[in-house]
Amino acid sequence: MTEQTRTTAASALPASIGQLQDLAYNLRWRWDAPTRNLFARLDPLLWENSNQNPALLLQTVDPARLQEVAADAEYSADVANAVAELDVYMASDATWFRQAHGDAGGSLIAYFSAEFGLTEALPIYSGGLGVLAGDHLKSASDLGIPLVAVGLLYQQGYFRQQLSETGWQQELYDTNDFEKLPLVPQRGPDGAPVVVEVPFPDRPVLAQVWRVQVGRVPLYLLDTNFSDNRPEDRDITDQLYGGDVETRIRQELVLGIGGYRALEQLGIQPTVCHMNEGHSAFLSLERVRTVMQQRGIAFAEAQTIVQAGSVFTTHTPVAAGHDYFPPELMDRYLGPFIQELDIARKDFLALGRHDPNNEGEYFCQTIFALRMSQYANGVSKLHGEVSRDMWKDLYPDTAVNDVPVGHVTNGVHLLSYVSPQIDALCDQYLGANWRHGRSVSQLREEFDRVPSDELWQVHTKHRWDLVRVVHHRLRTQLERDHSQEESSAGADVLNPDALTIGFARRFATYKRATLLLRDPDRLARILTSPVRPTQVVFAGKAHPRDEGGKELIRRVVELSRQEPFRGRLVFLEDYNIGVARTLVQGVDVWLNNPQRPFEASGTSGMKAAANGVLNVSTLDGWWDEAWAATRDDAAPPGWAIGDGSTYDDQEKVEADALYNLLEREVIPLYYDRDGDGLPRRWIERMKSAMYTISPVYNTDRMLCEYAERYYLPAIDSYGQAR
Ligand SMILES: *Cc1c(COP(=O)(O)O)cnc(C)c1O
Repeated sequence: MTEQTRTTAASALPASIGQLQDLAYNLRWRWDAPTRNLFARLDPLLWENSNQNPALLLQTVDPARLQEVAADAEYSADVANAVAELDVYMASDATWFRQAHGDAGGSLIAYFSAEFGLTEALPIYSGGLGVLAGDHLKSASDLGIPLVAVGLLYQQGYFRQQLSETGWQQELYDTNDFEKLPLVPQRGPDGAPVVVEVPFPDRPVLAQVWRVQVGRVPLYLLDTNFSDNRPEDRDITDQLYGGDVETRIRQELVLGIGGYRALEQLGIQPTVCHMNEGHSAFLSLERVRTVMQQRGIAFAEAQTIVQAGSVFTTHTPVAAGHDYFPPELMDRYLGPFIQELDIARKDFLALGRHDPNNEGEYFCQTIFALRMSQYANGVSKLHGEVSRDMWKDLYPDTAVNDVPVGHVTNGVHLLSYVSPQIDALCDQYLGANWRHGRSVSQLREEFDRVPSDELWQVHTKHRWDLVRVVHHRLRTQLERDHSQEESSAGADVLNPDALTIGFARRFATYKRATLLLRDPDRLARILTSPVRPTQVVFAGKAHPRDEGGKELIRRVVELSRQEPFRGRLVFLEDYNIGVARTLVQGVDVWLNNPQRPFEASGTSGMKAAANGVLNVSTLDGWWDEAWAATRDDAAPPGWAIGDGSTYDDQEKVEADALYNLLEREVIPLYYDRDGDGLPRRWIERMKSAMYTISPVYNTDRMLCEYAERYYLPAIDSYGQAR
């Protein structure tokens, strides 16, 4: 533990449990169940109501309760154990990276992202991109990869979602009280809080630096809500993906230029900078400026050095996911900075343009990031192909297959999403280390040892938990709306023993949330079967300016209030990481039906599979490759909707394929029970999801690939270039 993880509040804790403070301020509790249990035991209700936020919990728990647990020898022994384990974890040299690659010459990776989804307690993420970034840090920590991370600390974060009476999404912005979050102000070598200066047109903007400790990995977050800034500058880090294009460029200047400066001020000199999406692309400018200054060289020469040490990951083929800034905005915000770089305006703007000679073309951060990085990748095999095709114009003399954009398929940080009970069951029968070093065929045999009835029992209990959570949340929703006549309605919603389908993700239109609702009569027949009932739980937010996405939510909510869908189809408000965990552990089927090829990867289905939930998905993103590898198995880990072909009436063809799958395969298999009431063949598929999907689609595998295919080669080429 470093000095800085301790805050003054620690002194308020009784001595025998004082180290709860250290445990709270290292997010490793998010993937260490014994530490989480310590917080839950302190006050289970407060733990839940705090959004599982230990910093807030420790500040608000009844002091009498603290005295009580402090006097409980077992509790303080458990605290001491958890602290000892964390200390071992933090100090261990026996990590994958150390053993495979030593200390890589003291090299360091700096990972930049506009959002990080680490826990529901830290609302600085919107969806899959952020969750992926959060999982990246957790696995980098577990594997001992030398990595630090940089992001923004949003005063209001992303919005909380409430539905109006008509099912229209309302966005509520809470003000984050940073004192109540598991983060600390970052102090410099001199002990003073670190403040960086970001050059803006006629003034510097100041940003304060905070730190979140994610296992071994420090995450530095910049925040401009600072009394020395002008009022309009204080608002820069208000909201994630809020505001207009001007807010966006300001945020990206703070993230890229400010973020790089923050590292410098901390004495951190990254060997490799990894840009998670184009939002942080401006960091390359600051890096070029630094190299020019240090070495007394020109822009082009410095650019080559920076490229050698840069990795860029692109995350979406959807146009709205790429930043484009008008030239006059670039002039206004970057003009003076560019002068310092001694590069002509036209040459600079050309770095962000498809056509370097088109003076009217907007400056695209994706193009700029590609041009400043020697290493670039998409996030699934299919998305790699799509990206090479999308950006081939930038590499005029190159065949499309040789466009230098590879792929690393996304994963999930398993321990953040697998239910501790499922994990314990597997450990019991397979040994605690079963996730490491065993082939799929070995695992297939070994999973025979996991008793099907026990697996089914644990899973069934999670489904019941999910139904309880849905009741609780719907009741809260109804009480808020004061709709008296419906206040009893929450109780008979969902049948804890019915086949439960989950659909939860951002409501971007290409994800087609309403595909399942396309033929309401057919869906009604499926859901209302008296002997084989099926039910669906939806959740997800639409971007505040995405009217199309909001309309999809309205449509789901509208249907959920009509007979015969009432109680069988529900929409849960305010999707977040906590809701995601409950859903991926509690449903039986995870439905995903994006329009190919717009889902670059998708990760929620991987979380579901790790819990023995079967995927039903169109052949897009990660499922396209996972299905190719498993479709011929005796017990595949799910089903594919369609075969990836394109049709004139794609939606109708795929909706029909989905209904057919449900009617002919999914539902019959689920209700095919033996004398003990067990769906044996279904359980075989659950096991298959756990041993074919999880060993591949996790962030440990992903980080090993980033390390060996990008970070280490970039360390080498950077070394040579300079
Ligand atoms: C995992 C996760 C996502 C990503 O879901 P996809 O289905 O892959 O788009 C988005 N939001 C939250 C809260 C998640 O936990």
